[in-house]
Parts: sequence; C-alpha cells; structure tokens
Amino acid sequence: MRMISGNRAIRDHVQNGKDLLLFQQTKKGGRVRFEGLFVCAGWEIEQQPDKNRQQRQAIVFTLVPQSGLSIEAEDLATAAPPDFPLAELRERALQAALASNEASPRIALANVRARSKAVRDYVLARAAGACESCRSPAPFLTSSGQPYLEAHHIHKLSDGGPDHPNSVAALCPNCHRQAHFGAHQIALNDTLLERVQRFEK
Ligand SMILES: [Zn+2]
Ligand SMILES: [Zn+2]
Repeated sequence: MRMISGNRAIRDHVQNGKDLLLFQQTKKGGRVRFEGLFVCAGWEIEQQPDKNRQQRQAIVFTLVPQSGLSIEAEDLATAAPPDFPLAELRERALQAALASNEASPRIALANVRARSKAVRDYVLARAAGACESCRSPAPFLTSSGQPYLEAHHIHKLSDGGPDHPNSVAALCPNCHRQAHFGAHQIALNDTLLERVQRFEK
C-alpha cells in the first residue's frame, strides 16, 4: 500500500489546513456516527492480513482527539516561550505541520502537543504583544510576564491541535470571542486570514 490520495490527505491534513473529522460505521451499510475532530499524530506501515488472509502492507494512523489539545491553560502556568529569533520559531512551526512516522501512541501524543506548542509560540512571537485583529496591545501580562493573547485557528472548527502558521492568528480575548460568536465572524476571519497570509508569504 502506498501513501496516495485518501491516505496522503489524512497524513497531510495539518499541512493542508484541513480539519480531520472521524466517522465510524457501526455495520456495513449501517448508520455512521460522528466521533469528533482528530489530529493525525503519526503513521506507520504494518504487515496485516487482508480479507483473503493474504499478508499485505497496511498504513496505520495514530489519531489523537483534538479536544484536550488546547494548551492555553497549561501554557499560562509554565515559563516563558523559548527565546529564539522569529525566523527559527517559524521554521519550527512549519515543521510542526508535518505528521511524523511514529507508531507509539504515547510518543505520538507528546509529538502532537509539542507541534501545537511550536505553532503557538511562533504565532505569539509574530504578534509581538499586539492582537493581530484589532492591533491593540495584549490586555495584561501573564504570571510569566508574557503579553496575554490567544491562538485562534482561522476557519477551523476548533482551536486545539497543531496547524499551519498560515491559518493561526494571535488574538486578544475580545476579538477571539468575536471570531467565534460575533455577528460578523465570517468577515472578521476572512480579513484575518488575508492579513496573516500576506505576512507569511
Ligand atoms: Zn483584538
Ligand atoms: Zn479561536
């Protein structure tokens, strides 16, 4: 089995700025149940029997539920983000969009958390202490002395998980709520996306 079409789309969904929605079919031709948003944490190629009991190569993905990947709270309690130049933080964030060839679910989960953090660290550094929507300075400093802004995943269903730096913005809490619940949320997100992508070009 090769990494083509559907499989490649799963592996590269973060890089391609796509949400990964998991549905389970309880029996053949039966109803499908929505299991939630997941992140492809890793993949490996395994020997498995097919339905004719022939050994063949199968691609096995490790998927991590996106809920529980939000790192706002635990991040606030920890020390300052790494003091790297912006270009290096960006490089780490771009690397973070790529799924690793990692089989162990525990390591894969740790990787996904590290990938989410790399994107967040970069986006906060890029914002340089001011909201990327209203441009106001962050409303307060955190206990580690950092300007408080939130990482918003533009046009995504949820804010957890790693993402491409092209589609994440650092927002003040007001703009962030507005981006999710405001009457003009679509226009706000479109403007943000354009602004962020212009910067990332
Ligand atoms: Zn704002
Ligand atoms: Zn958000």
